[in-house]
Amino acid sequence: MGQYANALQATLARIAAAERAAGRPPASVRLLAVSKTFPAEAVRAVYALGQRAFGENYVQEASAKLALLADLRDIEWHMIGPLQGNKARIAAASFGWVETLDRPDIAQRLSAARTGAQPPLDVLVQVNVSGEATKSGVAPGEAPGLAQIVASLPRLRIRGIMGIPAPTSDPGQLRAQFRQLRGCYEACRAAGLPVDTLSMGMSADLEIAIEEGATEVRVGTSIFGPRPAR
Ligand SMILES: *Cc1c(COP(=O)(O)O)cnc(C)c1O
Repeated sequence: MGQYANALQATLARIAAAERAAGRPPASVRLLAVSKTFPAEAVRAVYALGQRAFGENYVQEASAKLALLADLRDIEWHMIGPLQGNKARIAAASFGWVETLDRPDIAQRLSAARTGAQPPLDVLVQVNVSGEATKSGVAPGEAPGLAQIVASLPRLRIRGIMGIPAPTSDPGQLRAQFRQLRGCYEACRAAGLPVDTLSMGMSADLEIAIEEGATEVRVGTSIFGPRPAR
């Protein structure tokens, strides 16, 4: 358990410092611990330190881990990797949140696959602010429309917006992309959607993301250490 204590504490301290610096209330930013590539025992150790929300990128890998951690009743799993239509059923069954929705047909599949025994699936619309063709996500202008579709589906609950800026060494360019994500979030609000989550910022840039309005940061490396090359 000691293995991750310092790293988790340091990450929470960075978040708290960034909240203060931005004049935002304490605990207004949630930490999502990104556990992809790390074994179930690592998740269990970080859970034992009090962390509850974990992010996974690959449905297959996550399913194996979830099975090993089924005894952790209040753990919260977030899907943060690209989601293909043929994985929607298992994603809807396994995860509490899907942060990477970018197509109406997948929204429909997720809603259809979510059982009435489960609470509604919490969903973020992923927005592509980098403009890179290889990146997932809808164009910024399409985000409120897709969020509206999510809101209209019975087994889904629209919660907000998620984004991954293009890697850049230019802090100004990074900030501009975070601002664009914030703009999408505000546009959803203005459309009357009940959104409360803006997921942006990772190990390297969470301070800027919090300054620009993130309510959730997704942090892997700073908690679990470097990932092996996939
Ligand atoms: C891996 C990953 C993260 C975590 O990145 P770190 O730099 O390790 O903190 C966050 N978000 C997404 C979508 C990821 O795939």
